[in-house]
Amino acid sequence: MKCIFCQIINKESPADVVFENEKIIVFKDINPKAPVHLLVVPKEHIKSLNKLENKELLFEIFLTIKKIARKVGILQGHQVIISVGEKGGQEVDHLHFHLLGGWK
Ligand code: AMP
Ligand code: ZN
Repeated sequence: MKCIFCQIINKESPADVVFENEKIIVFKDINPKAPVHLLVVPKEHIKSLNKLENKELLFEIFLTIKKIARKVGILQGHQVIISVGEKGGQEVDHLHFHLLGGWK
């Protein structure tokens, strides 16, 4: 079976998408751990951070994080979390950046 994030990217699975361009998609985490909990996901299926070699893509991901943080009102305070590998708590084997915020 194809990975769940690839299914979301291909519109084969539903998601609450807040931003999308040709390289990156951002959608709400289905099990939020903060008032705002988004997942910033490159559309290319890269398994994990330790497999990422594309500097431009990494830079674009962080620009997107900043842009979306501003858009949803958490630019002044948020967390970016990346789980790497099973022992690092990574459950979905498609690179993703958690963007969390909105605490009072
Ligand atoms: P990680 O533990 O870093 O691999 O995070 C995977 C995240 O993906 C978890 O926070 C899940 O709640 C989230 N997640 C899993 N399936 C979906 C889905 N179909 N739509 C949105 N978020 C999901
Ligand atoms: Zn995938």
